Amino acid sequence: MNERRGKGLSFAKRMHIPRAIGTGLGFFCVMIGIAPLEPGLWVWVVLAAHGFVWPHLAYLIARSSAQPFRAEQRNLIFDGFAGGCWAGAMGLNPLPSVIILSMIAMDKIAAGGWHMLFKTLLAQTIGIGLGLWLYAPPLFPQTSQAQMLACLPILLIYPMAIGMICYQVTVQLAQHKRALARLSETDSLTGLSNHGAWQNLLLREFGRCRGSLASSHLALIDIDHFKLINDRHGHLVGDNILRVLSATLSLHLRKRDPAARYGGDEFCVMLPDTTADQAMEILERLRRAVEAFRDPALPQLSLSVSIGVAPFGAGLANAEAWLHAADMALYAAKSAGRNRIMLAGAEGQGLFATAT
Ligand code: GH3
Ligand code: MG
Repeated sequence: MNERRGKGLSFAKRMHIPRAIGTGLGFFCVMIGIAPLEPGLWVWVVLAAHGFVWPHLAYLIARSSAQPFRAEQRNLIFDGFAGGCWAGAMGLNPLPSVIILSMIAMDKIAAGGWHMLFKTLLAQTIGIGLGLWLYAPPLFPQTSQAQMLACLPILLIYPMAIGMICYQVTVQLAQHKRALARLSETDSLTGLSNHGAWQNLLLREFGRCRGSLASSHLALIDIDHFKLINDRHGHLVGDNILRVLSATLSLHLRKRDPAARYGGDEFCVMLPDTTADQAMEILERLRRAVEAFRDPALPQLSLSVSIGVAPFGAGLANAEAWLHAADMALYAAKSAGRNRIMLAGAEGQGLFATAT
Protein backbone atom coordinates (compact mmCIF):
# COMPACT_ATOMS: atom_id res chain seq x y z
CA MET A 1 0.00 0.00 0.00
CA ASN A 2 1.54 3.31 -1.02
CA GLU A 3 1.77 6.24 1.40
CA ARG A 4 -0.79 8.35 -0.50
CA ARG A 5 -3.41 5.59 -0.43
CA GLY A 6 -2.66 4.97 3.26
CA LYS A 7 -3.30 8.64 4.08
CA GLY A 8 -6.55 8.59 2.03
CA LEU A 9 -7.72 5.48 3.87
CA SER A 10 -7.01 6.96 7.29
CA PHE A 11 -8.93 10.11 6.22
CA ALA A 12 -11.92 7.96 5.19
CA LYS A 13 -11.66 6.02 8.46
CA ARG A 14 -11.60 9.25 10.46
CA MET A 15 -14.80 10.43 8.75
CA HIS A 16 -16.69 7.12 9.14
CA ILE A 17 -17.85 7.41 12.76
CA PRO A 18 -18.73 11.16 12.71
CA ARG A 19 -20.73 10.61 9.52
CA ALA A 20 -22.56 7.63 11.11
CA ILE A 21 -23.37 9.74 14.20
CA GLY A 22 -24.42 12.76 12.11
CA THR A 23 -26.70 10.94 9.67
CA GLY A 24 -28.10 8.69 12.43
CA LEU A 25 -29.11 11.66 14.59
CA GLY A 26 -30.07 13.71 11.54
CA PHE A 27 -32.55 10.95 10.61
CA PHE A 28 -34.75 11.84 13.61
CA CYS A 29 -34.44 15.53 12.93
CA VAL A 30 -35.62 15.13 9.31
CA MET A 31 -38.20 12.47 10.19
CA ILE A 32 -40.08 14.83 12.49
CA GLY A 33 -39.51 17.69 10.02
CA ILE A 34 -41.15 15.96 7.06
CA ALA A 35 -43.78 13.94 8.96
CA PRO A 36 -46.46 16.71 8.74
CA LEU A 37 -46.12 16.58 4.94
CA GLU A 38 -47.16 12.90 5.00
CA PRO A 39 -44.54 11.70 2.53
CA GLY A 40 -44.81 8.46 0.59
CA LEU A 41 -43.15 5.20 1.64
CA TRP A 42 -40.24 5.68 -0.75
CA VAL A 43 -39.27 8.90 1.05
CA TRP A 44 -39.10 7.05 4.39
CA VAL A 45 -37.03 4.30 2.81
CA VAL A 46 -34.61 6.81 1.27
CA LEU A 47 -34.39 8.70 4.57
CA ALA A 48 -33.65 5.51 6.57
CA ALA A 49 -31.06 4.41 3.99
CA HIS A 50 -29.38 7.79 4.16
CA GLY A 51 -29.42 7.82 7.96
CA PHE A 52 -28.18 4.30 8.64
CA VAL A 53 -26.73 2.75 5.48
CA TRP A 54 -25.01 5.64 3.69
CA PRO A 55 -22.18 6.21 6.24
CA HIS A 56 -21.05 2.59 5.93
CA LEU A 57 -21.52 2.55 2.17
CA ALA A 58 -19.48 5.77 1.91
CA TYR A 59 -16.67 4.14 3.90
CA LEU A 60 -16.77 1.05 1.68
CA ILE A 61 -16.68 3.21 -1.46
CA ALA A 62 -13.61 5.08 -0.19
CA ARG A 63 -11.91 1.88 0.99
CA SER A 64 -12.35 0.09 -2.30
CA SER A 65 -11.34 3.09 -4.38
CA ALA A 66 -7.88 3.33 -5.93
CA GLN A 67 -7.84 6.93 -4.66
CA PRO A 68 -9.55 6.83 -1.25
CA PHE A 69 -8.85 10.50 -0.54
CA ARG A 70 -10.62 11.66 -3.71
CA ALA A 71 -13.48 9.22 -3.09
CA GLU A 72 -13.91 10.52 0.47
CA GLN A 73 -13.95 14.10 -0.78
CA ARG A 74 -16.76 13.14 -3.18
CA ASN A 75 -18.56 11.51 -0.22
CA LEU A 76 -18.26 14.75 1.75
CA ILE A 77 -19.74 16.73 -1.12
CA PHE A 78 -22.57 14.21 -1.40
CA ASP A 79 -23.23 14.72 2.36
CA GLY A 80 -23.79 18.41 1.61
CA PHE A 81 -26.02 17.65 -1.36
CA ALA A 82 -28.16 15.12 0.57
CA GLY A 83 -28.46 17.47 3.59
CA GLY A 84 -29.62 20.20 1.20
CA CYS A 85 -32.24 17.86 -0.32
CA TRP A 86 -33.73 17.11 3.11
CA ALA A 87 -33.75 20.79 4.10
CA GLY A 88 -35.54 21.56 0.80
CA ALA A 89 -38.02 18.70 1.31
CA MET A 90 -38.86 20.16 4.75
CA GLY A 91 -39.66 23.46 3.01
CA LEU A 92 -36.63 24.96 4.82
CA ASN A 93 -38.29 24.51 8.19
CA PRO A 94 -36.01 26.96 10.04
CA LEU A 95 -34.69 25.02 13.04
CA PRO A 96 -34.06 21.52 11.57
CA SER A 97 -32.79 22.99 8.30
CA VAL A 98 -30.31 25.33 9.97
CA ILE A 99 -29.11 22.58 12.28
CA ILE A 100 -28.61 20.03 9.50
CA LEU A 101 -26.93 22.50 7.15
CA SER A 102 -24.68 23.99 9.84
CA MET A 103 -23.61 20.60 11.24
CA ILE A 104 -22.69 19.47 7.73
CA ALA A 105 -20.77 22.71 7.15
CA MET A 106 -18.95 22.29 10.49
CA ASP A 107 -17.51 18.88 9.76
CA LYS A 108 -16.63 19.87 6.20
CA ILE A 109 -14.53 22.76 7.54
CA ALA A 110 -12.91 20.36 10.03
CA ALA A 111 -12.17 17.90 7.21
CA GLY A 112 -11.11 20.17 4.37
CA GLY A 113 -11.08 23.85 5.39
CA TRP A 114 -12.69 26.69 3.42
CA HIS A 115 -12.14 24.97 0.11
CA MET A 116 -14.28 21.99 1.12
CA LEU A 117 -16.86 24.28 2.77
CA PHE A 118 -17.29 26.20 -0.48
CA LYS A 119 -17.85 23.00 -2.49
CA THR A 120 -20.27 21.73 0.18
CA LEU A 121 -22.27 24.98 0.20
CA LEU A 122 -22.61 24.70 -3.56
CA ALA A 123 -23.79 21.09 -3.25
CA GLN A 124 -26.16 22.09 -0.44
CA THR A 125 -27.70 24.84 -2.57
CA ILE A 126 -28.26 22.43 -5.47
CA GLY A 127 -29.71 19.89 -2.99
CA ILE A 128 -32.10 22.48 -1.51
CA GLY A 129 -33.29 23.40 -5.01
CA LEU A 130 -33.84 19.74 -5.89
CA GLY A 131 -35.70 19.04 -2.59
CA LEU A 132 -37.99 22.03 -3.13
CA TRP A 133 -38.62 21.12 -6.76
CA LEU A 134 -39.27 17.43 -6.14
CA TYR A 135 -41.44 17.84 -3.08
CA ALA A 136 -42.87 21.35 -3.46
CA PRO A 137 -43.54 21.72 0.28
CA PRO A 138 -44.95 24.91 1.88
CA LEU A 139 -42.01 27.20 2.49
CA PHE A 140 -40.65 28.12 5.96
CA PRO A 141 -43.29 26.31 8.09
CA GLN A 142 -43.25 27.10 11.79
CA THR A 143 -41.05 24.76 13.85
CA SER A 144 -43.22 22.73 16.21
CA GLN A 145 -42.31 21.72 19.78
CA ALA A 146 -41.81 18.08 18.66
CA GLN A 147 -39.53 19.15 15.81
CA MET A 148 -37.50 21.28 18.19
CA LEU A 149 -37.09 18.35 20.62
CA ALA A 150 -36.09 16.01 17.78
CA CYS A 151 -33.27 18.41 16.91
CA LEU A 152 -31.81 18.43 20.41
CA PRO A 153 -29.82 15.13 20.23
CA ILE A 154 -27.91 16.15 17.09
CA LEU A 155 -27.37 19.62 18.53
CA LEU A 156 -25.91 18.16 21.71
CA ILE A 157 -24.05 15.08 20.54
CA TYR A 158 -22.67 15.89 17.10
CA PRO A 159 -20.49 18.91 18.05
CA MET A 160 -19.09 16.82 20.92
CA ALA A 161 -18.19 14.00 18.52
CA ILE A 162 -16.48 16.43 16.12
CA GLY A 163 -14.69 18.11 19.05
CA MET A 164 -13.45 14.74 20.29
CA ILE A 165 -12.14 13.79 16.84
CA CYS A 166 -10.36 17.15 16.50
CA TYR A 167 -8.83 16.58 19.95
CA GLN A 168 -7.60 13.10 18.95
CA VAL A 169 -6.04 14.51 15.79
CA THR A 170 -4.34 17.25 17.85
CA VAL A 171 -2.93 14.68 20.29
CA GLN A 172 -1.67 12.55 17.40
CA LEU A 173 -0.05 15.59 15.80
CA ALA A 174 1.68 16.49 19.07
CA GLN A 175 2.99 12.91 19.34
CA HIS A 176 4.30 12.99 15.76
CA LYS A 177 5.92 16.36 16.41
CA ARG A 178 7.71 15.00 19.49
CA ALA A 179 8.83 11.89 17.58
CA LEU A 180 10.13 14.04 14.72
CA ALA A 181 11.99 16.31 17.13
CA ARG A 182 13.59 13.24 18.76
CA LEU A 183 14.49 11.86 15.34
CA SER A 184 16.08 15.14 14.26
CA GLU A 185 18.39 14.96 17.29
CA THR A 186 19.33 11.31 16.95
CA ASP A 187 22.14 9.70 15.00
CA SER A 188 20.42 6.99 12.97
CA LEU A 189 23.32 4.53 13.05
CA THR A 190 24.11 4.53 16.76
CA GLY A 191 20.96 5.93 18.37
CA LEU A 192 23.09 8.49 20.25
CA SER A 193 22.51 12.24 20.04
CA ASN A 194 23.75 13.69 16.76
CA HIS A 195 26.08 16.60 16.02
CA GLY A 196 23.36 19.28 16.17
CA ALA A 197 21.97 18.05 19.49
CA TRP A 198 25.52 17.93 20.88
CA GLN A 199 26.20 21.55 19.89
CA ASN A 200 23.12 22.65 21.83
CA LEU A 201 24.13 20.58 24.83
CA LEU A 202 27.68 21.97 24.74
CA LEU A 203 26.38 25.56 24.66
CA ARG A 204 24.02 24.88 27.57
CA GLU A 205 26.72 23.22 29.68
CA PHE A 206 29.23 25.97 28.91
CA GLY A 207 26.69 28.60 30.03
CA ARG A 208 25.90 26.65 33.18
CA CYS A 209 29.60 26.21 34.07
CA ARG A 210 30.31 29.90 33.45
CA GLY A 211 27.41 30.86 35.73
CA SER A 212 28.29 28.53 38.59
CA LEU A 213 31.98 27.75 37.90
CA ALA A 214 31.04 24.09 37.96
CA SER A 215 33.80 21.57 37.42
CA SER A 216 32.79 19.79 34.22
CA HIS A 217 34.87 17.87 31.70
CA LEU A 218 34.41 17.43 28.01
CA ALA A 219 35.87 14.37 26.25
CA LEU A 220 36.38 13.64 22.56
CA ILE A 221 36.80 9.96 21.68
CA ASP A 222 38.10 8.76 18.33
CA ILE A 223 38.52 5.18 17.13
CA ASP A 224 42.12 4.34 16.28
CA HIS A 225 42.87 3.34 12.70
CA PHE A 226 39.20 3.06 11.86
CA LYS A 227 39.90 3.52 8.19
CA LEU A 228 42.03 0.38 8.33
CA ILE A 229 39.18 -1.56 9.98
CA ASN A 230 36.85 -0.46 7.17
CA ASP A 231 39.41 -1.36 4.52
CA ARG A 232 40.22 -4.77 5.99
CA HIS A 233 36.78 -5.94 7.11
CA GLY A 234 34.35 -3.84 5.13
CA HIS A 235 32.04 -0.97 6.00
CA LEU A 236 29.35 -3.17 7.52
CA VAL A 237 31.83 -4.34 10.16
CA GLY A 238 32.88 -0.71 10.56
CA ASP A 239 29.26 0.30 11.13
CA ASN A 240 28.89 -2.44 13.72
CA ILE A 241 32.00 -1.21 15.53
CA LEU A 242 30.42 2.25 15.72
CA ARG A 243 27.32 0.64 17.31
CA VAL A 244 29.49 -1.38 19.71
CA LEU A 245 31.30 1.75 20.79
CA SER A 246 28.07 3.65 21.40
CA ALA A 247 26.73 0.72 23.47
CA THR A 248 30.01 0.66 25.46
CA LEU A 249 29.66 4.39 26.09
CA SER A 250 26.13 3.95 27.40
CA LEU A 251 27.29 1.06 29.59
CA HIS A 252 30.33 2.72 31.16
CA LEU A 253 29.17 6.29 31.56
CA ARG A 254 27.02 7.51 34.42
CA LYS A 255 23.36 8.19 33.61
CA ARG A 256 23.99 11.94 33.86
CA ASP A 257 26.87 11.91 31.34
CA PRO A 258 25.43 12.65 27.89
CA ALA A 259 27.22 11.13 24.91
CA ALA A 260 26.86 11.95 21.23
CA ARG A 261 28.30 10.95 17.87
CA TYR A 262 30.20 14.01 16.75
CA GLY A 263 30.66 12.64 13.23
CA GLY A 264 32.51 9.79 11.45
CA ASP A 265 34.32 7.72 14.08
CA GLU A 266 34.42 10.52 16.64
CA PHE A 267 32.25 10.63 19.77
CA CYS A 268 31.92 13.22 22.51
CA VAL A 269 30.97 12.97 26.13
CA MET A 270 30.09 15.59 28.73
CA LEU A 271 30.96 14.81 32.35
CA PRO A 272 29.13 17.43 34.40
CA ASP A 273 30.22 18.31 37.94
CA THR A 274 33.15 15.92 37.78
CA THR A 275 36.71 16.38 39.06
CA ALA A 276 39.67 15.61 36.82
CA ASP A 277 40.40 12.39 38.78
CA GLN A 278 36.83 11.20 38.44
CA ALA A 279 36.78 12.03 34.73
CA MET A 280 40.03 10.14 34.13
CA GLU A 281 38.74 7.15 36.10
CA ILE A 282 35.51 6.96 34.10
CA LEU A 283 37.25 7.39 30.76
CA GLU A 284 40.00 4.93 31.61
CA ARG A 285 37.33 2.33 32.41
CA LEU A 286 35.81 3.06 29.02
CA ARG A 287 39.15 2.85 27.21
CA ARG A 288 39.89 -0.53 28.81
CA ALA A 289 36.43 -1.86 27.93
CA VAL A 290 36.99 -0.94 24.27
CA GLU A 291 40.46 -2.49 24.34
CA ALA A 292 39.02 -5.70 25.77
CA PHE A 293 36.29 -5.95 23.11
CA ARG A 294 36.50 -9.07 20.94
CA ASP A 295 34.21 -9.96 18.07
CA PRO A 296 33.80 -13.78 18.08
CA ALA A 297 33.31 -13.70 14.29
CA LEU A 298 36.54 -11.69 13.78
CA PRO A 299 38.99 -12.74 16.51
CA GLN A 300 41.88 -10.99 14.76
CA LEU A 301 40.13 -7.60 15.00
CA SER A 302 41.46 -5.42 17.80
CA LEU A 303 39.94 -2.13 18.78
CA SER A 304 41.15 0.91 20.68
CA VAL A 305 40.24 4.54 21.14
CA SER A 306 42.16 7.73 21.82
CA ILE A 307 40.57 10.25 24.14
CA GLY A 308 41.14 13.97 24.66
CA VAL A 309 39.68 15.56 27.77
CA ALA A 310 39.35 19.22 28.67
CA PRO A 311 38.06 20.67 31.93
CA PHE A 312 35.90 23.77 31.92
CA GLY A 313 38.05 26.81 32.72
CA ALA A 314 37.00 30.38 33.49
CA GLY A 315 39.55 31.57 30.91
CA LEU A 316 37.82 29.79 28.02
CA ALA A 317 36.34 32.44 25.74
CA ASN A 318 33.43 30.33 24.49
CA ALA A 319 32.12 26.80 23.99
CA GLU A 320 34.17 26.38 20.79
CA ALA A 321 37.35 27.10 22.76
CA TRP A 322 36.40 24.33 25.18
CA LEU A 323 35.81 21.92 22.31
CA HIS A 324 39.06 23.01 20.68
CA ALA A 325 40.97 22.26 23.92
CA ALA A 326 39.53 18.70 23.95
CA ASP A 327 40.38 18.35 20.24
CA MET A 328 43.98 19.40 20.88
CA ALA A 329 44.20 16.86 23.72
CA LEU A 330 42.83 14.18 21.36
CA TYR A 331 45.38 15.16 18.74
CA ALA A 332 48.12 14.81 21.36
CA ALA A 333 46.80 11.35 22.35
CA LYS A 334 46.97 10.28 18.70
CA SER A 335 50.47 11.72 18.29
CA ALA A 336 51.68 10.03 21.46
CA GLY A 337 50.82 6.60 20.05
CA ARG A 338 46.97 6.24 20.34
CA ASN A 339 44.98 4.02 22.76
CA ARG A 340 45.42 6.58 25.53
CA ILE A 341 43.84 9.55 27.26
CA MET A 342 45.26 13.06 27.35
CA LEU A 343 44.01 15.74 29.67
CA ALA A 344 44.24 19.42 28.75
CA GLY A 345 45.12 22.07 31.32
CA ALA A 346 42.36 24.19 32.84
CA GLU A 347 42.73 26.90 30.20
CA GLY A 348 43.05 24.45 27.35
CA GLN A 349 46.83 24.21 27.54
CA GLY A 350 49.44 21.96 29.16
CA LEU A 351 48.70 18.39 28.20
CA PHE A 352 49.25 15.51 30.58
CA ALA A 353 49.37 11.90 29.48
CA THR A 354 47.81 9.22 31.59
CA ALA A 355 49.20 5.71 32.09
CA THR A 356 47.90 3.19 29.55
P1 GH3 B 1 43.14 7.69 13.45
O1 GH3 B 1 43.66 6.65 14.34
O2 GH3 B 1 44.15 8.75 13.16
O3 GH3 B 1 41.83 8.26 13.89
O4 GH3 B 1 42.90 6.96 12.06
P2 GH3 B 1 41.55 6.69 11.35
O5 GH3 B 1 41.77 5.66 10.29
O6 GH3 B 1 40.47 6.37 12.33
O7 GH3 B 1 41.32 8.07 10.66
P3 GH3 B 1 40.06 8.94 10.67
O8 GH3 B 1 39.55 9.07 12.06
O9 GH3 B 1 40.40 10.20 9.95
O10 GH3 B 1 39.08 8.06 9.76
C1 GH3 B 1 37.76 8.03 9.96
C2 GH3 B 1 37.18 7.01 9.01
O11 GH3 B 1 35.87 6.70 9.45
C3 GH3 B 1 37.06 7.50 7.60
C4 GH3 B 1 35.70 7.03 7.14
O12 GH3 B 1 35.81 6.14 6.06
C5 GH3 B 1 35.15 6.25 8.32
N1 GH3 B 1 33.76 6.50 8.56
C6 GH3 B 1 33.15 7.69 8.80
N2 GH3 B 1 31.83 7.52 9.01
C7 GH3 B 1 31.59 6.18 8.91
C8 GH3 B 1 30.42 5.37 9.02
O13 GH3 B 1 29.31 5.83 9.29
N3 GH3 B 1 30.57 4.02 8.86
C9 GH3 B 1 31.79 3.46 8.58
N4 GH3 B 1 31.87 2.14 8.45
N5 GH3 B 1 32.90 4.19 8.45
C10 GH3 B 1 32.83 5.53 8.62
MG1 MG C 1 39.79 7.62 13.90
